[in-house]
Amino acid sequence: MKALIIGAGIGGMSAAAALKQQGIECDIFEAVKEIRPVGAALSIWSNGVKCMNHLGMGSIMDALGGPMHNMAYHDGITGSVMTQFSLAPLVDAVGERPCPVSRADLQSQMIDWWGRDLIQFGKRIERVEQTDNGVTAFFDDGTQASGDFMIAADGTHSAVRTQVLGYHTERRYADYVNWNGLVDIDEDIAPGDQWTTFVGEGKRVSIMPIAEGRFYFFFDVPLPKGLKEDRSTLIDDLTDYFSGWAAPVQTLIKAINPETTNRIEIHDIEPFDTLVKDKIALLGDAAHSTTPDIGQGGCSALEDAVVLGQCFAHHEYTLSGVTAALKEYEAERRFRVKDLVLKARKRCDVTHGKDMAETEAWYDELKKETGENIIAGLRTTILGGPLA
Ligand code: FAD
Repeated sequence: MKALIIGAGIGGMSAAAALKQQGIECDIFEAVKEIRPVGAALSIWSNGVKCMNHLGMGSIMDALGGPMHNMAYHDGITGSVMTQFSLAPLVDAVGERPCPVSRADLQSQMIDWWGRDLIQFGKRIERVEQTDNGVTAFFDDGTQASGDFMIAADGTHSAVRTQVLGYHTERRYADYVNWNGLVDIDEDIAPGDQWTTFVGEGKRVSIMPIAEGRFYFFFDVPLPKGLKEDRSTLIDDLTDYFSGWAAPVQTLIKAINPETTNRIEIHDIEPFDTLVKDKIALLGDAAHSTTPDIGQGGCSALEDAVVLGQCFAHHEYTLSGVTAALKEYEAERRFRVKDLVLKARKRCDVTHGKDMAETEAWYDELKKETGENIIAGLRTTILGGPLA
């Protein structure tokens, strides 16, 4: 039994790990010659960390996870604390810690865990054909590869998705731009063991500790799509967007390196019900593209992989067994991933001032927050995963 895995991102690598646990051979094909992640870091929440442990890659989380023990919101303008609390009750309730990690290091270590030499880089799939006997992938260099089934983990711009769905999906602009990067930990910006977020005017500045004494930072600003901004104006742009904001935000802006800071117009895709067509399954962002507002895109790719492995454990390794396992995967995942995309969209709108009255009401709630409600929300999201 052989699977073709398309994409060597978090989704593709974790899918390969899950199938390997079931004794299924995997050939992995990645479009680019060298992976350059679009973001600086990721918060892998406890559900994602549990998946990494389950897939045998827990040591990567141990090596890369930052010491995020507390959480706080500050008024962006005055800098005053709106709420501050320990994340220990969350960790106790869900049985695992969250791990903010460098994205480049995570991807690189997942690839090394599998064996870099075993991945075929520079193989961009253009289309796939399936027959009663299996699937064949056609790459843009004129080569092809065959297997018994395919896991398409080729990201939000998936080339395979249209063939699975039978129609083309458009990405939806979420009405804000995100800048993100890494800086050295500086306690004048935020405590080194805390996820700290400054909010105001529908904007957000967030800082999280990752390993090796670094902060992951991001700035969110509601803006029209397609604005022309480049690295040479990055510091001036942020200074302008956050003019009048509190001292730690100004200190952060001064600390960032424009050459290593990413600027991303944030999108999602309207959730869909079909994740599988016979012997082809979508996984990760190819199957569900979310805004990063609840930090669950990568976590849900890891969940997909764990469930995929569990489904293969229930079925015979025959061609009809493959179809049944993939159908079961679709049935197990479709509601969970739809829920996460829509939850993130709702959070995104409130955070970024889609209706400013609602956003102001949220700021007022934060001033009364003891941590209990935020932890309850995080707990529900985390425990909705397959390894609850
Ligand atoms: P990708 O990482 O996009 O990987 C797809 C791979 O497929 C790529 O390597 C690509 O080169 C390859 N590929 C593409 N097309 C082809 C082709 N035709 N043929 C072959 N290969 C192809 N998630 C979290 O869990 N927590 C967070 O805190 C978080 N923060 C985020 C912040 C930002 C700003 C953004 C944009 C996203 C964030 N996410 C977060 C989401 C997370 O990054 C994604 O959900 C995750 O990377 C999806 O992994 P993937 O493997 O499905 O897709």
